Amino acid sequence: MQRPIYLDNHATTPLDERVLEAMLPYFRESFGNPASVGHFYGWEAEAAVKMARSAIAAGINADPAEIVFTSGATEANNLAIKGIAEAYHQRGRHLITVQTEHNAVLDPCRYLESLGFAVTYLPVQPDGLIDLQVLEQALRDDTILVSVMMANNEIGVLQPIAAIAKICRDRQIIFHTDASQAIGKVPINVQTMQIDLMSLTAHKVYGPKGIGALYVRRSPSRIAIAPQMHGGGHERGMRSGTIYVPQIVGFAKAIELAIASQIPEQQKSLELRQHLWQRLKTLDNIQLNGHPTQRLAGNLNISFSGIKGAALMLALQPIVAISTGAACSSAQTKPSHVLTALGHSPELAHASIRFGIGRFNTLAEIGQVADQIINILPSLQRHL
Ligand SMILES: *Cc1c(COP(=O)(O)O)cnc(C)c1O
Repeated sequence: MQRPIYLDNHATTPLDERVLEAMLPYFRESFGNPASVGHFYGWEAEAAVKMARSAIAAGINADPAEIVFTSGATEANNLAIKGIAEAYHQRGRHLITVQTEHNAVLDPCRYLESLGFAVTYLPVQPDGLIDLQVLEQALRDDTILVSVMMANNEIGVLQPIAAIAKICRDRQIIFHTDASQAIGKVPINVQTMQIDLMSLTAHKVYGPKGIGALYVRRSPSRIAIAPQMHGGGHERGMRSGTIYVPQIVGFAKAIELAIASQIPEQQKSLELRQHLWQRLKTLDNIQLNGHPTQRLAGNLNISFSGIKGAALMLALQPIVAISTGAACSSAQTKPSHVLTALGHSPELAHASIRFGIGRFNTLAEIGQVADQIINILPSLQRHL
């Protein structure tokens, strides 16, 4: 059997061979615990983690001491949002986020509401971008945190992070961004962008699953985070648990590779996306979701009004792996909260498909997928 073409790179990405090679010694002979300070095995593991931490920090212009390793972006988001609420609740009990965020941001916010915090969920414009004036109007004297994702995982839209962060910094409100989809694809500099907290994950950037990080700013002033995992006091007390050395080594390698090849790789993804869109946009009843240019190079999210995205996805299953939206909510029958936030009806939201083009896709694959969609669509529309 030939494996289907993989065009679901927002859900996860394949592990790059070079990342796997970098990880292997740490599964084998170099298996030590970095917290074992009394012998060679511990020192070896500790040295590997130190190098990885420095590489990840360098990739975002942070200090290595500002990187807290977590199990991924879900945990990093939870640590940021709940950790700030717990540490700063005496200053205020109001948070601001956006309706189109990932559930790993929305759910911790809803949880905080159950504890008595107030949360404003900002609307977005029809192109998926927030209106900065609406953000400014939502700020209150008791606002302690603003959380806005850098790149959306469904529609790829890139929010104006530096402008949002400046609004927050001017008012001394802490700013967090979930950069899971952005790292390695767009330039990130936590200093010039004035980011206080930033969530990362390795498996969206050709690294292993189960590892990520929270960047926690230390200067000019230190951000305090209440730990959500208590134990041995690892990661400067912010996240206890034995350091997962092979995953961390792979995470760093993945970030280094992605940043080193960022410009040509994104250029190639953009060309493939433009090719796919050129082929599909001539079809009837088709529309692009999200801002046409201020989006990730490899993201194409479209609605085919009159068909069900799930039906198209099923019909294409032997040929291509695509999805109707976020992997974690695809199984649900609810329409995507991201697309309804753009103003789509539930029907139009259900008629959507997300293409995520990545490092290993080729122009031939894109051509094949476009051919198949163009062939299959009339029969799906007839069955309505
Ligand atoms: C994938 C993703 C997450 C979840 O990351 P995990 O490492 O799988 O927990 C969070 N936010 C965004 C935007 C994502 O794309």
